Amino acid sequence: MTKLPKGATIGIFGGGQLGRMLGQAARTLGYKAHIFDPFDDTPAGRIADTQTTAAYEDKRAVEAFAARCDVLTYEFENIPLETIKCAASITPAFPDATALHTSHDRLVEKTFLSDKADAPVVDFAPIESMHSLSEFVREFGAPAVLKTRRFGYDGKGQVKITSARDVKAGFARLGGTDLIAESFVPFVREFSIIATRGQDGEIACYPLTENVHKHHRLHTSIAPTNDPQNIEPEAQTITRRILQALNYVGTMGVEFFELEGGKLIVNEIAPRVHNSGHWTMDGGCVDQFEQHIRAITAMELGITKPKYVVKMTNLIGDEILQADELARNPNSFVHNYDKRDIKPGRKMGHMNEIIGDA
Ligand code: AMP
Repeated sequence: MTKLPKGATIGIFGGGQLGRMLGQAARTLGYKAHIFDPFDDTPAGRIADTQTTAAYEDKRAVEAFAARCDVLTYEFENIPLETIKCAASITPAFPDATALHTSHDRLVEKTFLSDKADAPVVDFAPIESMHSLSEFVREFGAPAVLKTRRFGYDGKGQVKITSARDVKAGFARLGGTDLIAESFVPFVREFSIIATRGQDGEIACYPLTENVHKHHRLHTSIAPTNDPQNIEPEAQTITRRILQALNYVGTMGVEFFELEGGKLIVNEIAPRVHNSGHWTMDGGCVDQFEQHIRAITAMELGITKPKYVVKMTNLIGDEILQADELARNPNSFVHNYDKRDIKPGRKMGHMNEIIGDA
């Protein structure tokens, strides 16, 4: 646990926008950034010192990359577990393979959250047959949400089962195996806690971030948000337990549902910097990317108390074309991910707008 000296190289698996902002933070702190991505000319690769272009399954390339780096991390959780294990046998990787394994599979994740982290989760069950789905709906009622256990994000790979009559169609739509059913949560709002744990076990949480989704995708985040039911202390306590139970190092996003009356349910965890933490870049605190780099290099964690209330809006598809106009507002800061092609539905950037003092 010695602090990584300046000039050392941070290896980042994944060349998207999160890798880019991690790479920018690494450089701000005086480190070099080396990106690993299967595609050439990536948003992260363009700001990095070096990029290795190879498949995640290319063991030789992964080993060579790891050998050239002093510490490793990743920008998204769908990196194959074997890739991180292979790389970590050469150079330390944070978050470690356990965190990655836990978040790869919704069933493993929910079981971990309830059994090991004592976190409140929705009723859930593995679904391997239409019969088990019917049983779930009979026991817990409708509506329910049927999800693929793996590779689901932004609402992809999930269907709502509104009544027992939907069971057959819903089951068929998701392919019928490796599924998980959850009760539908009648939440009043969604929020997240972004938190970072250092190598010495110190944990720093950012304040309550309220998230609004459009078509199952994050649209806006506001932080610090109002907290009439004073749920932040409990949300932070749950978050701390999750990080401790995983012996986690780095920044994590924990997504919650808030129910009527202030009851909390953890929806999911992301073992990485998180879209709902982008507001930190203009909140007047140390941002989530720098905080992650601080954690994995064994630096002291930075200040998470913001000076400003920030509203973050994702810029999707051709919304990025308004970037110059949006940036004319002196309280707005546009972060363009410098993606080559504008595609409908693609996250192209985000805008942080300062809307008040924190
Ligand atoms: P996920 O991919 O699990 O994060 O789901 C994406 C979004 O779908 C969440 O942010 C919620 O808005 C909604 N959602 C997911 N699971 C449930 C659930 N069990 N009950 C109600 N809404 C849900």
